[in-house]
Amino acid sequence: MIQWNEHFINGARCQVGNGRMVRIHDAATEAPLGEVHLGSAGDVDDAVAAARQALPAWQRIGTQARASMLYALADALESMGQALARDISREVGMPLKLSQRIQVDAPVAAWRATAALADTFTFVREMGNSRVTMVPVGVVAAITPWNYPLHQITGKLAPALLAGCTVVLKPSELAPAASACLMAACEQAGLPPGVVNIVQGDAEVGHSLVTHPDVQMVSFTGSTAVGRKVAALAAGEMKRVSMELGGKSAAVVLPGADLSRAVKATVASCFLNSGQTCSAITRLIVSREDYPKCRELVAEAVAAMPMGDPADASTRIGPLLSALQRERVLSHIADAEQAGFDRIAGGLDAVVPARGYFVAPTVYGNVSAESRLANEEVFGPVLAVLCYDAVEEAIALANGTRYGLAAAVWAADEFGGEVVANALRAGQVDVNGARFNAAAPFGGFGMSGVGREGGIYGLEEFLEPRAVQLPRSSD
Ligand code: NAD
Repeated sequence: MIQWNEHFINGARCQVGNGRMVRIHDAATEAPLGEVHLGSAGDVDDAVAAARQALPAWQRIGTQARASMLYALADALESMGQALARDISREVGMPLKLSQRIQVDAPVAAWRATAALADTFTFVREMGNSRVTMVPVGVVAAITPWNYPLHQITGKLAPALLAGCTVVLKPSELAPAASACLMAACEQAGLPPGVVNIVQGDAEVGHSLVTHPDVQMVSFTGSTAVGRKVAALAAGEMKRVSMELGGKSAAVVLPGADLSRAVKATVASCFLNSGQTCSAITRLIVSREDYPKCRELVAEAVAAMPMGDPADASTRIGPLLSALQRERVLSHIADAEQAGFDRIAGGLDAVVPARGYFVAPTVYGNVSAESRLANEEVFGPVLAVLCYDAVEEAIALANGTRYGLAAAVWAADEFGGEVVANALRAGQVDVNGARFNAAAPFGGFGMSGVGREGGIYGLEEFLEPRAVQLPRSSD
């Protein structure tokens, strides 16, 4: 069993000495994978002190030098990529082939894309008699979840470091491999001590970090329930916050759209990483006339997604993270059964592999807008199909939850799709299957969060504008 028992503080690894730990299991076999040792408030104090001490020199070395460090970190992470893809696959259950591409290659590319902003981003702006300089916020507390562990660490650390901030990262205690790699990458890249500090821990450690007086900003990704608490704690000291939270994203299929493409793309989005994706499209909104055809197409699309061993190259759907996660998802399915919705695929009695935290990909049709299934984030492979009679109703359904992270619109033509996209309260809307753009702002309306990650929007989160007014000859 692996022992994840090291923090990374002030450029050195140090033993976690608290005695508290969580055991994690291989998602596909349920065999123990290792133990994550949890830190203490004292470890947080040490890490924040190191970040604070490292701040002035890190700001002084300048943007280009910081960008070089980001490139070096990307190279180091890439060199460990194969092992990391395998470890993340074991931790969270994502099929290995996808894990390599999505859990490792994409974040490595994001480190490089963020570094490249050093060449184009305007840090100093002239506005009349003001010179506005974008200055780093200071010491950043980064708290991340388990579902895309390296991706979420990257979304915070790469822009924070480029901005000139120093960081204390508290990664999820349920997916430790990515932060273990990051420690090695910081060493390999020769990152100055204290610029990145990593403290292993759970809610208790997260709480100490969020409330630490020398932390200027809290960048949090996780559930809306925890995000609310964290934001309230941070508000006590008026810390800057960035919150990337949950979602219940919808695809709206307009009359005349390519229903077959819409269904395939929605099913693929909903079941990616076994539904353990914040921006997964988990509601499919179709016209009542299209429902019978949609039902058929959904059943076909689900049948074409093999579930099984994540190490098998043909697997599209793996297990969930843990027994607890499986229980949570099954409770949503049990509720949907009780509500009597039209089961199109999966369900409680669907056959799944005997070992591993599997839940069969499940779809219910004719789901009511008020139901739990239509409103709560499941974070598992469960899709709800809702029907509308008029387009206005479809838009109201899409906007009808407290979330607003992502959405999709399928239309007969791009213009019609964009009109409806502009009516949706979501941070990211794809029209007719348009591809993901890593440079576009990613984040949510409503209870899906505050702030944005990605591209220049993600960088600006870690910068404060300082305006200096200068006397001009006309004054
Ligand atoms: P979670 O909220 O349980 O935990 C997230 C992080 O917060 C973990 O590191 C955890 O240890 C820490 N934490 C827990 N309680 C805390 C507290 N009281 N104070 C400080 N820190 C605390 O979320 P999770 O189960 O790890 O991740 C799944 C959730 O994350 C889903 O809701 C998903 O939608 C969301 N998510 C959102 C995005 C996004 O970009 N919007 C991306 C990925 C995941």
